Amino acid sequence: MESSKNNTIIFATTNQGKVTEVKRIFDDVDVKILSLADFNDKIEIVEDGLTFEENAKIKAKTVYDFYKVPVLADDSGIVVDQLKGAPGVFSARYAGEHATDKMNNDKLIQDLKHLPEPHEARFVCQAIYYDGKDYTVTSGVMEGKVILSPRGEHGFGYDPLFISEGYDRTNGELTLDEKNMFSHRAKAFRNLKKKIHF
Ligand code: IMP
Repeated sequence: MESSKNNTIIFATTNQGKVTEVKRIFDDVDVKILSLADFNDKIEIVEDGLTFEENAKIKAKTVYDFYKVPVLADDSGIVVDQLKGAPGVFSARYAGEHATDKMNNDKLIQDLKHLPEPHEARFVCQAIYYDGKDYTVTSGVMEGKVILSPRGEHGFGYDPLFISEGYDRTNGELTLDEKNMFSHRAKAFRNLKKKIHF
């Protein structure tokens, strides 16, 4: 089915979790989504922005300048009230530059374990479409709380530690379709999809 799609957009990420979520959202439009994992090029993306939007724009522009093909990008992370907004834009490298999801999750547990529950938090996603001329920007938020014992095998990143408002299962215990009904990324990219003229 995908091979019959005409337009190609590159999603500026190598994160397979993000790719799976976003491809599902663009399933119903005539666009083939590739990601950086489909190429062997070494592209240096210097994510030195101080906000999700700045970093998303840096990713979009760097990848567009390399391939000259329209680009989707996002910058996202978890914002924890008791940690004054950390890990925030540093979510991917909270436990260090090349930290794994497990290392980041362990650090979050350590940082919260002496603080009273609930550990209120939200996932934030800033999504961008860049065609070489204009940036189209949307955002999405998912409110919830962090728990200190990981549960579930689905999703990625902090999903096993996050329970969305109104749920008792962690994001890691949700299927892709369940998470895509209301996640920060799904909200941002669904909105972005409406604004792009394919
Ligand atoms: P980015 O790739 O620079 O945007 O970093 C995003 C990081 O935030 C990921 O590596 C995860 O640690 C975290 N994150 C963002 N979205 C999610 C999500 O949907 N579930 C779990 N973790 C997420």
